[in-house]
Amino acid sequence: MTCDFLALAQPGVQKLSPYVPGKPVEELAREFGLRPDDIVKLASNENPLGPSPMAIAAIQAVLPDMTRYPDGNGFALKQALSQRLGVTPTMITLGNGSNDILELITRAFVGPQHEVVFSEHAFAVYPIVTQAVGAQAVVVPATNWGHDLDAMAAAITAKTRLVFVANPNNPTGTWIEKGELERFLARVPEQVIVVLDEAYTEYVETTDVPNGLDYLKQYPNLLVSRTFSKAYGLAALRVGYGICQPAIADAMNRVRQPFNVNSLAQAAALATLEDDAYLAESRRINREGMAQLEAGFTALKLQWIPSRGNFIAVDLGREAAPVFQELLRQGVIVRPVANYGMPDHLRVSIGLPAENQRFLDVLKQVLLNG
Ligand SMILES: *Cc1c(COP(=O)(O)O)cnc(C)c1O
Repeated sequence: MTCDFLALAQPGVQKLSPYVPGKPVEELAREFGLRPDDIVKLASNENPLGPSPMAIAAIQAVLPDMTRYPDGNGFALKQALSQRLGVTPTMITLGNGSNDILELITRAFVGPQHEVVFSEHAFAVYPIVTQAVGAQAVVVPATNWGHDLDAMAAAITAKTRLVFVANPNNPTGTWIEKGELERFLARVPEQVIVVLDEAYTEYVETTDVPNGLDYLKQYPNLLVSRTFSKAYGLAALRVGYGICQPAIADAMNRVRQPFNVNSLAQAAALATLEDDAYLAESRRINREGMAQLEAGFTALKLQWIPSRGNFIAVDLGREAAPVFQELLRQGVIVRPVANYGMPDHLRVSIGLPAENQRFLDVLKQVLLNG
């Protein structure tokens, strides 16, 4: 073979490293000869509750229609979201996960002549979608692990077309307060699109984190993205959405795959959206699990980054990679975040009480023996 195909790929694509997901349970079981039932996975910020029973019933009801293409406009789901969120359906774009929304906005608006601004330690998909379109990523140093919005506003140039802001942010769990966000939005020029990624917003139970939807009227350059993957427990189905002015949604719709959200995902999302008890339970499990992990870290004399998400980044005070490996060997999957510039931290998704305890017990043993 003489052709170097990677050399033919777009320059931005050549420089990319693929997204590294949390290790699947089955893969770890194979690798270490463990029983899948003995493995605890707290690595991908998934909902530990299992899906809403209403989602399962809704999927069963639509299974016989599997031979048909899904509703490419997602009419019913958009209607339900529109009523719940107080926005018009024309402001909603459905995505194959909110990841799809991040990609659609970038592909529709950003080219090789542009810059895209985001924070250090921010979600790994921002550099991927930026480089994939050949744009220049402008990574702004974080303060206290969180976004420095003043510095991000200052990093905007005539070339900037898009800014990604995650609130709360993954993998740090840090959040932006109302006043900070308002000051930032007021400073961003109107031709620069602000993507406010609210993947964890349903977990926020305090009043210190603003709701991005409150700013859509005042700032037509704002896109708020949300997902059914986290608090709504549908990560495998891939369904998320963006909310923005119809003109931006129109541009995204032009590059969107015609049937990007499958019918099972649409049905399950619609059903879960109506299941208020499920969301309340997801929040309770998260709140209590977060307290359990924080108490466990305190007992182990470990520091952590306060989090408003369904995960927490713990500082091991030393290189986390060997600890991660040893946890794996004992059947506990968490997330190393060295690739996010956080080599001493591990990100742990909040699990069920027994899962959290198992993690804490194994962590304690690994730290003592290390
Ligand atoms: C998990 C996550 C998403 C989206 O996930 P999807 O499953 O594609 O909806 C988006 N942003 C952040 C910050 C996330 O952590």
